[in-house]
Amino acid sequence: MADQSPKTCVPLTVLAEDEQLFYASVLEFADKRIRPLVREMDEHAKAPRSLIDELFGLGVMGIEIPETFGGAGATFFHSVLAVEALSRVDPAIGLLVDVQNTLVSNALMRWGTDDMKRRYLPALATKSVGAYALSEAGSGSDAFAMAARATERDGGYAINGRKLWISNAVEADVFIVFANVNPEAGYRGITAFVVERGTPGFTVGQKEDKLGIRASSTCELLFEDCTVPKTQVLGEVGKGYKVAIETLNEGRIGIGAQMIGLSRGALVHAVAYTKERKQFGKAISDFQAVQFQLAQAATELEAARLLVYNAARLRDARKPFLQEAAMCKLFSSQVAEHVTSLAVQLYGGYGYVKDYPVEKLFRDAKVGQIYEGTSNMQLQTIAKTLIS
Ligand SMILES: Cc1cc2nc3c(=O)[nH]c(=O)nc-3n(C[C@H](O)[C@H](O)[C@H](O)COP(=O)(O)OP(=O)(O)OC[C@H]3O[C@@H](n4cnc5c(N)ncnc54)[C@H](O)[C@@H]3O)c2cc1C
Repeated sequence: MADQSPKTCVPLTVLAEDEQLFYASVLEFADKRIRPLVREMDEHAKAPRSLIDELFGLGVMGIEIPETFGGAGATFFHSVLAVEALSRVDPAIGLLVDVQNTLVSNALMRWGTDDMKRRYLPALATKSVGAYALSEAGSGSDAFAMAARATERDGGYAINGRKLWISNAVEADVFIVFANVNPEAGYRGITAFVVERGTPGFTVGQKEDKLGIRASSTCELLFEDCTVPKTQVLGEVGKGYKVAIETLNEGRIGIGAQMIGLSRGALVHAVAYTKERKQFGKAISDFQAVQFQLAQAATELEAARLLVYNAARLRDARKPFLQEAAMCKLFSSQVAEHVTSLAVQLYGGYGYVKDYPVEKLFRDAKVGQIYEGTSNMQLQTIAKTLIS
């Protein structure tokens, strides 16, 4: 006889108790501790170190790092929840936490030697910010065409070259840096290194003056005969392309989380404002045209959230998620552009000035279509999975 017992199938958006508590505590922190600083951080393009220290204290800088190394020993999904909650209030802080967890600690946990894990994971969980340096001036979407070189010298490697657009560069102590040890082998020469701030020959260059996520630092890195011992190779020599591809496949789910977080932030503001703002003798939320615009935005956001959560859950379940990760980033960044634009629209003239929060979220949204693989690169990945 067929099994009649009810099947348990947890809906994607139903969070486990610990996930609910975690999300609520990060959101409360964002509301109380980050919200009052958002405008100033945006204007000065800087996140104060005291706030970063509080993020360490909150336990969101080493979410997946095992407890034995001082981290929270939680899941990738928890990282997604943290980035989402923080990005509701400030997507620049969402990115800082995203890079730390989904790229830097993630790569070290997966590819680092035991010695590396002992040296870096406890610091990353408690006090050190990390950065991930792949892009260069001449190689963005075509990242593996990088010009940075690493040559064997004195029992180690001398790194020469420049990296561009590196998030967290001002604050970071630990940098994952990609360089080619054997250009003739093409991408099979690419190698990942862990480089510490202060290593001779390594300097952090100019900071970019950006449209959005201004409190997240984005800088050039310069390497001039920066010599590191062989023990600083992350993963295998010549396998850096694998480190990059696999971490970025996961990292882009984090960007999806940033996009749904900021979209939610904008939508919450838009709903509240339309209920308050009166024209023609009534709240503008009483007009059906406005209601339908809000309803459309809420629907798109829910669809994006499902894509992001599904990709993250697949990753934690160790199931394939390449296509789902690309879709979630592609779609959530499109939704973010639409929802934040609508929020500005519904605020009218007040949406166009810095005194209200939606102008910033509108500026912050655009980068979701650019970094960790542009929208065209996501489409390329999705298309490959369809036709291969
Ligand atoms: C704020 C910010 C933070 C960043 N942080 C980091 C970081 O921490 N670490 C890091 O390594 N990088 C970082 N980046 C770099 C980012 O990943 C690159 O900007 C991105 O990969 C795009 O590369 P690009 O800017 O060189 O654009 P390009 O690759 O030159 O692309 C320009 C345009 O051409 C299109 N295009 C290119 N090739 C194709 C193709 N084959 N088919 C169709 N269209 C194509 C793209 O979609 C895009 O619209 C950051 C960027 C920004 C803006």
